[in-house]
Amino acid sequence: MSKIICKICSHYCTLKEGQIGFCGVNKNVDGKLVCLVYGYPNAIQIDPIEKKPLYNFLPHTNTFSIGTVGCNFRCPFCQNYTLSQTSNYQKKEYFEPEKIISLALYYKCKSISYTYNEPTIFYPYIKDIAKLAHKKGLKNIMVSNGFMSKEVTKEIPNYIDAVNLDIKCFNKEYYKKNLKGDLDIILENAANLKKSGLHLEITTLVIPDLNDSYEEIQNIAKFIKSNLGTDTPWHLSAFHPDYKMLSTPNTPVKSLKKAYKIAKEVGLDNVYLGNI
Ligand code: SF4
Repeated sequence: MSKIICKICSHYCTLKEGQIGFCGVNKNVDGKLVCLVYGYPNAIQIDPIEKKPLYNFLPHTNTFSIGTVGCNFRCPFCQNYTLSQTSNYQKKEYFEPEKIISLALYYKCKSISYTYNEPTIFYPYIKDIAKLAHKKGLKNIMVSNGFMSKEVTKEIPNYIDAVNLDIKCFNKEYYKKNLKGDLDIILENAANLKKSGLHLEITTLVIPDLNDSYEEIQNIAKFIKSNLGTDTPWHLSAFHPDYKMLSTPNTPVKSLKKAYKIAKEVGLDNVYLGNI
């Protein structure tokens, strides 16, 4: 029985023969790691790039967006939980990388976005699509929680041109206990991705009483300023009740405006309010 360690994300799951990892989609099959959702996206859509959100990369263009099922996080406020918190993937239609490229070109998109659920978990699929995309002049975008492994973080700039990365809060315990991630790893990955020269934008879903305190917003802003640069775009998005947080109200516009003011006081140049 050969055990393997999956090195796709920072969970580094040890998988026994036949075992599937925490994300629900990577499996040890005969001692080899198999990404079960390779070729089986559950969501395909053409979106304006601003919807990712990316505001300072290929503006006013459409991006061919794909996502699968599964996630390496367990956020109780997930706004896409029907995809992320299931491992039940569609097996009816296989989309080989070539097919994704020809659809993206057919619909006159300028880029392909790996989005909706956490794309890191289907990285083997991304890599194959991204290589072909570059040959055809298409850019590649990841919309990610930033919890990729060290190895994948190092590789990403070879294939990916822009990343929108979430900093969900600035509370280490909350990240560990409730989201099943690690704030320090995410901050380190964000800094390394920025250093690599790819285009980076940050998103924070502002949730009432969870991460909207003056201190927490200020801490995120300070991190961006010191480690990513004042020109790094920061999207402050409004939460709406979803998944396990149905009794939490929508983010009031005044909270977003307060967060915007704090970000400006800290000295960030490009701050945007979203979902309002
Ligand atoms: S992608 Fe992450 S969660 Fe999934 S099996 Fe690999 S290490 Fe585990």
